[in-house]
Amino acid sequence: MSLDTKIVQEFQQILNSNRLNHAYLFEGGNYKQRHELALFLVKSQFCPNLHDNLPCLECSVCQTIDLNDNPDVLEIKNDKRSIGVDEVKDYKKAMSTSTTQGDVKVLIINDAQKLTAQAANNLLKFIEEPEGQVLIILLTDSKNQILPTILSRVQSFTLSTDDQNSLATELSQQGFSEKNMAIAQATTELKNVQEMSDEEFSHFLEVTINWFKKYENNDAIAFIDVQSKIKNLVDSREKQELFWSIVEKLFSDELSFKYDLKKQVILGTDVNPNLTVPKLTQQIDSYLGTVQKWKSNVSFQACLESLTLD
Ligand SMILES: [Zn+2]
Repeated sequence: MSLDTKIVQEFQQILNSNRLNHAYLFEGGNYKQRHELALFLVKSQFCPNLHDNLPCLECSVCQTIDLNDNPDVLEIKNDKRSIGVDEVKDYKKAMSTSTTQGDVKVLIINDAQKLTAQAANNLLKFIEEPEGQVLIILLTDSKNQILPTILSRVQSFTLSTDDQNSLATELSQQGFSEKNMAIAQATTELKNVQEMSDEEFSHFLEVTINWFKKYENNDAIAFIDVQSKIKNLVDSREKQELFWSIVEKLFSDELSFKYDLKKQVILGTDVNPNLTVPKLTQQIDSYLGTVQKWKSNVSFQACLESLTLD
């Protein structure tokens, strides 16, 4: 057993107060740790021998879940490059059949970063208006790879690894404020901020937020910012990745305002109250396309300029 005890405690509180949501995302740790945590949560919904709402892990019901032999627990697990909309539709259909073992139907999605945008949208509708009682658990390496529309609808938990823990300790020793640490942890991989001081991170954040505000308000200065402010700021691959991660979180925050989800991490106010959801979704799609281009080695500056002009 290698369950993250901190997360198990958090779930115990959630279960004790009957606040279980119907969609969760587990990121971080390794594949086995995430999967084990998912099954643990699933068992809490089926085990007949709960102790303080946590499953016994020993009874035949718990074991059946370990053996992937509970017909109410479905799992998407494929070796293909992507999880397409047809696959999601098939599983949704299977999820809408009646339960046989308990009151809830479960869907676990491994490698959720492989969901195509279309599949993700289809899944979203399901998360928003589930038929019957469902529990959907998405598993992924890093939530930075998950579409913000999905992120805004699920509650996510980060499994800690020794690496991340020691990086976090290092960062607080080098003077990272609690606020910046929380933003960094929710936004990016800590290796991307490892070389920065707290002041440098604050400055980086400020420049990125300013660019984003101008971009969202169609302010032509956003384009000038790329040359005058951002170019010199992002002088390494890590910093470029940090920039994209912050922008993604800003989009996600903006979306959170539109849906009144109160899940903002960085922004305190809606940067453009007049922006519609379809327009914002369109921007997020361009952003995702831009990051793909950057990943395939188009220069950072060219990518950001074309996004800004879009
Ligand atoms: Zn049990």
